[in-house]
Amino acid sequence: MNNFRKDRNYLLKYSLMSGIVFLFINSALLIIRGGHLSFHINIELAPLALLSILFCGLPSSMLHNCAHGNWKPKMMNTFLGEIFGTVMLYGFKGFKLGHMFHHKFPDDPDYDVHPSKGYHFLQFLVSPIKDTLAVIERVYFEYFGDNESSRRNIFWQKIFFNISIALRFSFWLLLLGPSLFVFFYLPIYILNIFVFAHINYAAHIVNQDGNSEVVNLNHNLYYRIVNVLSMGGYFHKSHHLKPQCLNPAKAIIDDNTPYVTFIHEKKEVITKRLEKRHLRLVKAQYL
Ligand SMILES: [Zn+2]
Ligand SMILES: [Zn+2]
Repeated sequence: MNNFRKDRNYLLKYSLMSGIVFLFINSALLIIRGGHLSFHINIELAPLALLSILFCGLPSSMLHNCAHGNWKPKMMNTFLGEIFGTVMLYGFKGFKLGHMFHHKFPDDPDYDVHPSKGYHFLQFLVSPIKDTLAVIERVYFEYFGDNESSRRNIFWQKIFFNISIALRFSFWLLLLGPSLFVFFYLPIYILNIFVFAHINYAAHIVNQDGNSEVVNLNHNLYYRIVNVLSMGGYFHKSHHLKPQCLNPAKAIIDDNTPYVTFIHEKKEVITKRLEKRHLRLVKAQYL
């Protein structure tokens, strides 16, 4: 966060540098592959897609721990962060910055990169990158002023961010070839997005008072399995209370005191269906 505050070109330089690096790597891969792209898909590799279930929680849980600097030695966080940020396509530094906002301002509609806002799950699923960019833009204007130079900077940040995503995407295609890309990389990527969107969606609830609260979830088979595959992903209350814990399932916290993250001045209007879901989750939390 400090680097972002000190350097107005922090994210612009990161996206630009990532773009140059992947342009170079992709060109090298293209040369190694004899300058031609094969689009032949070997259907016999289709069963590999089943492996994606085993790895569905890995990329984001590794990346997430890198954002918190939980690996030792410290430089491993940058190294692994860049690798798993490449798997997730959006890189490491922007994710880390957005995630620090999530911890500093959990459920704040203006500063959290994924407040629930009464979204349905599908809306929540497609909103993280858009909401992260919106928060970064808002904070950027607060730090550096809402002026022409800031707007130009934001404009180029978004352009180079999108280019770097496209280059990371083509990197995996060039590295793995079309069959592994389709039957191994894409299923892991898509499942991982679903798994972590649901973790953030289900563990940040609106409680009976209309305020936001973070809960731990481990009360059914699905949550238990995903908690194993994602290094305690649904132990989200424990994670917010002890973010330096590599696996929050192992963190010892006071589980009986509700962890309210945001008191909404104007309480969220929640639909009957959402209310039922939230109440069910709160109840499950205290079983
Ligand atoms: Zn959270
Ligand atoms: Zn975190």
